[in-house]
Amino acid sequence: MTLLRCRHCGSTLHHEVIDLGHQPPSNAYLSADQLGRPEITYPLKVYLCTSCWLMQLPAHAAAETLFTPDYAYFSSTSSSWCSHAERYVAAAVQRLGLGAESMVVELASNDGYLLQYVLERQIPCLGIEPTQAAAQLARERGIPTLERFFGVELADELRSEGGAVAGGADLIAANNVLAHVPDINDFLAGITRLLKPGGQVSIEFPHLLRLLAGNHFDTIYHEHYSYLSLAVLQRIAASVGLSLVDVEELPTHGGSLRVWLAPTAALADGVVSVPTEAQQRLAAVLRAEQAAGLESPLAYAGFQQRAEAAKHALLCFLLQAREQGRRVLGYGAAAKGNTLLNYAGVRSDLLAAVADKASSKIGRFLPASHIPVVSPAELAAMAPDALLVLPWNIAAEVQQQWRDAGYGEQPCYRAIPVLEQLPG
Ligand SMILES: [Zn+2]
Repeated sequence: MTLLRCRHCGSTLHHEVIDLGHQPPSNAYLSADQLGRPEITYPLKVYLCTSCWLMQLPAHAAAETLFTPDYAYFSSTSSSWCSHAERYVAAAVQRLGLGAESMVVELASNDGYLLQYVLERQIPCLGIEPTQAAAQLARERGIPTLERFFGVELADELRSEGGAVAGGADLIAANNVLAHVPDINDFLAGITRLLKPGGQVSIEFPHLLRLLAGNHFDTIYHEHYSYLSLAVLQRIAASVGLSLVDVEELPTHGGSLRVWLAPTAALADGVVSVPTEAQQRLAAVLRAEQAAGLESPLAYAGFQQRAEAAKHALLCFLLQAREQGRRVLGYGAAAKGNTLLNYAGVRSDLLAAVADKASSKIGRFLPASHIPVVSPAELAAMAPDALLVLPWNIAAEVQQQWRDAGYGEQPCYRAIPVLEQLPG
């Protein structure tokens, strides 16, 4: 057996945190003619590096197989996500004093859901997005977009004479991408090279502290390689010449951090300074992580058992509904839903269909469970007695949209972190 190595420090990984069985990539939606073919599954088992404390999923599949050209996730389909991006751009422009002379680069810019607000302000920008379908949509919106994976090699190309970002970036936005990068060292090193001396990068990621406290085991999937704390990010960033400047705690994805970093050299030279309030915010998060035992095996004990309890509660709920003749249907064909359904072994006998607004998913089938994805109108026509909302982080938005569309007043349930009915 080959030894698994930590993606940051290279130490041998031997401390298992949670095992969710073998699963196909969570975004590998199937067409009808693919249903009869074999499906490739990979171990969905998370490890803790006891040298640098990075919680991680070893890469079993190359990123190119996970983020296929028809990768079906488009950020713009979530309206709450777009308004999150709009608020972010307004705040970043103010924080860094960005204008027509500035350069904004977004890594994993998807369909331009965020850079559209940069473009609106006539600030030059560049999107970097490896998936063809999303990059194409962004270009149709007029957003310059490169279809590439980001790292040192691309950063040097962009910075070279005549490159698209030859003068360096004032702002690099890397929102919900760092966790999805197999080579986290190379990605962060690329950021250091792409930044102007006074430039800053903001990185958003689901906060490991919230993931563990909230039992968000369904946010573990193969595209999600690193599960980050502020302390671990600080350690990895320091190794490539980046330092923490500020942190904000966000409610997104069940609790995220937005961390601002600048080149360590810029802090030493006084080009960038860290205000006292920012120092206090950083210290408070680091203290909370320390208190929770994130830099010891303690905080991770019992995660497997809590996931099992959630799985059993979901199965009881679906079996009981079936016995009572109540039809429960799913809403939201999100990656986290696939982790949950496949871990719990739920198939179409217990959940006959899942609705989604994304036309790229409608008419296809969820990986492994083969549950059909239908439009919200089709789901409504199946007369559900209750809805199980799989993307629990946007459950309230989903419930509102369902009711606004006149589909009915059925009770809505979220499965995670504990199975519960939504209010109203
Ligand atoms: Zn390590």
